[in-house]
Amino acid sequence: MKTSVIGYPRIGENRELKFASEKFFKGQIDEAELDSVAKTIRVNNWKKQSDAGISFISANDFSYYDNVLDTAFLFNVVPARYKELGLSERETYFALARGYQGANGDVKALAMKKWFNTNYHYLVPEIEDDTKVELVGDKPFKEYLEAKEAGIDAKVVITGPFTLLNLIRYTGSKTKEDFKDAFINEYSAFVEKLNDNGVKWVQFDEPYLVKDIDDNAKKLFVEIYTNLLSKKNAVKVLIQTYFGDVRDVYKEIISLDFDGVGLDFVEGRKTFDLIANDGFPKDKLLFAGIVNGKNIWKNDYKKTLDIIKKITDSGVNSDNIVISTSCSLLHVPNSLESEKKLSDDYKKHFAFAFEKLKELSELANLADNNEYANDSKYIDNQTLLANRINVLDEAVKQRVESIKEEDYTRLPAFEEREEVQKAKLNLPAFPTTTIGSFPQTADVKRNRTLFRKGEITKDEYVDFNKKKIAECISLQEEIGLDVLVHGEYERNDMVEYFGEHLSGYIFTENAWVQSYGTRCVKPPIIWGDVSRKGPITVLWSKYAKSCTDKPVKGMLTGPVTILNWSFPREDITIKESTLQIALAIRDEVLDLEANGVDIIQIDEAALREKLPLRKSDWYSEYLDWAIPAFRLVHSGVKPETQIHTHMCYSEFTDIIPAIDAMDADVITFEASRSDLQILDSLKECNFKTEVGPGVYDIHSPRIPSVEELIGALKKMREKIEDKKLWVNPDCGLKTRGESETKASLINLVEAAKELRALS
Ligand code: GLN
Ligand code: ZN
Repeated sequence: MKTSVIGYPRIGENRELKFASEKFFKGQIDEAELDSVAKTIRVNNWKKQSDAGISFISANDFSYYDNVLDTAFLFNVVPARYKELGLSERETYFALARGYQGANGDVKALAMKKWFNTNYHYLVPEIEDDTKVELVGDKPFKEYLEAKEAGIDAKVVITGPFTLLNLIRYTGSKTKEDFKDAFINEYSAFVEKLNDNGVKWVQFDEPYLVKDIDDNAKKLFVEIYTNLLSKKNAVKVLIQTYFGDVRDVYKEIISLDFDGVGLDFVEGRKTFDLIANDGFPKDKLLFAGIVNGKNIWKNDYKKTLDIIKKITDSGVNSDNIVISTSCSLLHVPNSLESEKKLSDDYKKHFAFAFEKLKELSELANLADNNEYANDSKYIDNQTLLANRINVLDEAVKQRVESIKEEDYTRLPAFEEREEVQKAKLNLPAFPTTTIGSFPQTADVKRNRTLFRKGEITKDEYVDFNKKKIAECISLQEEIGLDVLVHGEYERNDMVEYFGEHLSGYIFTENAWVQSYGTRCVKPPIIWGDVSRKGPITVLWSKYAKSCTDKPVKGMLTGPVTILNWSFPREDITIKESTLQIALAIRDEVLDLEANGVDIIQIDEAALREKLPLRKSDWYSEYLDWAIPAFRLVHSGVKPETQIHTHMCYSEFTDIIPAIDAMDADVITFEASRSDLQILDSLKECNFKTEVGPGVYDIHSPRIPSVEELIGALKKMREKIEDKKLWVNPDCGLKTRGESETKASLINLVEAAKELRALS
């Protein structure tokens, strides 16, 4: 059998592209040097894949920032405000990605959004009524020829026209219908040029097809590809889908003139049934996505070979099957070879991108061998999976099993608690607060690094943080905030920090995954059953409380976010792991309460991340357990203890009832950059939870004026009852400088005061 890789991580084994790009942005290296780093990464990636014997290797999966942006750029989908800057091609590209501020003008970056159900972010292309869609670039052809020079005849990959049309923001009065013909023409020109260059296969990435597709969308899809495929000539076309199954358009896909169809057997629950029920045409190749491109566990060869057998049994000729990754390997780290510290007992159970290449070719060989059960590769794999360091903790399992229905419900009901809390906390109207972190200045980071390296003692480390906390508290008192925080100086990251205090977690040194542009994250790995080793934040919160008479908010990360930003286990469900984490955080909540912390914030920044791509699955597959898991964390507290939660975005207009069902007492969220439309929706849904829609954007150093803040608050008051309105920035302040933070918060407090005087 043949093998295929949808895409390969492009940040470099040691994040070379990140560091080179950052230098380039600072003017420390020139374009030629950046290009040479990029080329080395591409050539290395191709070589690794070809050494592993991969049959279908991608070219143009590389990007200086983002593939969707690359595709928009290739077709001249660039808003006028960027063109008017009059910059070079490369500078214009980076202006779209990162914004531009300099001699030629001042323009913000394009918006960024999560790439389907991953933690990768793409740039949202914008099209204006007079944008002339036109094939203007040559990146895909150049990279194809570069691969060829390196001895590899690659397939050329590009975001498909259907997905692109659906992801674009139409800023004028024209719609995707109006632009469809232009895209058909220009994608046809693209295909023609592929033929001119001798390209043999093109891969159109169409993940949008795994969402709910209605009749209009289906029509659009069929129209685009009927046209495009009629012009393909010699080049063979692979339609590549991932992140789910294509149940709404499977029949259309197989009746169109594609040469290859890429389907996801890992996340696509119905993929096999589609083939079994509707058949698979004899004249096409089936690119079967069975090596997980999103998680880091070794492939279970038995399971995979069983699926392949089922596929051949259902009538697909084994010569027509290509074993593929389930999605681009962009979503997993580069290679285990960079993990020097992690013990081999753990490491041998993982497969990062590089190790997945070997899995693909081993699987292809095994699948061709009728006697594979006797093959040492197969036996080794099965032996390994059967022998894993104990991951189970009977006590944790028992505890999850004994959760009762009533444990998911906090009593008394919200309205009664609200009264009790108002009486107890005695806060002014429009109480002011922050989201938790204060600027992580160089000395704060240094303190953590020195402690981690063993260069200072635990006492020295703690004393330093206490000093910072005391300063942070007195700063907040001076500013006049009502509900204070300790500042989060102990945290590197809101998930890794908690992971480090939970058993069942392991950590990597170098397992970076691109989140957007040059930003990478290093998700911790859930290895076993999760429980709390001991108090996590109590020391800090208790100390902060001792510094002031004002209320201090305890600060935790919620179970859904901790799970969503980790690599999860696959031997139990993510629901079960989330409940284990929820019980651990619940213990922390009760511990804080017992220590006199009477306001506790449980952040759920990533609540929406694993929301299924199909609306019909939202509740049954996800929200029906994720929201109760959150409630489990706080249901044990006293009525007078106030529970806050925080989300980093206001994109929950469509799940407002679920957010209300988290049953927190207060929620703060990002609202300063959105159109405040969320407020209408809250009102319509009779949202009961008190709300602090962020009044200013912390992602920029800009200091909002008092008038501007009052303006925002007045708009909020039109939709939100006075007694439910809080005043706060839209996210944590850790990335901000100290002076702008203080100035902004002073204005925020002043705005709240003036508002009180008005009401
Ligand atoms: N409490 C966290 C902070 O203030 C929240 C971070 C987040 O929402 N991403 O940093
Ligand atoms: Zn946030």
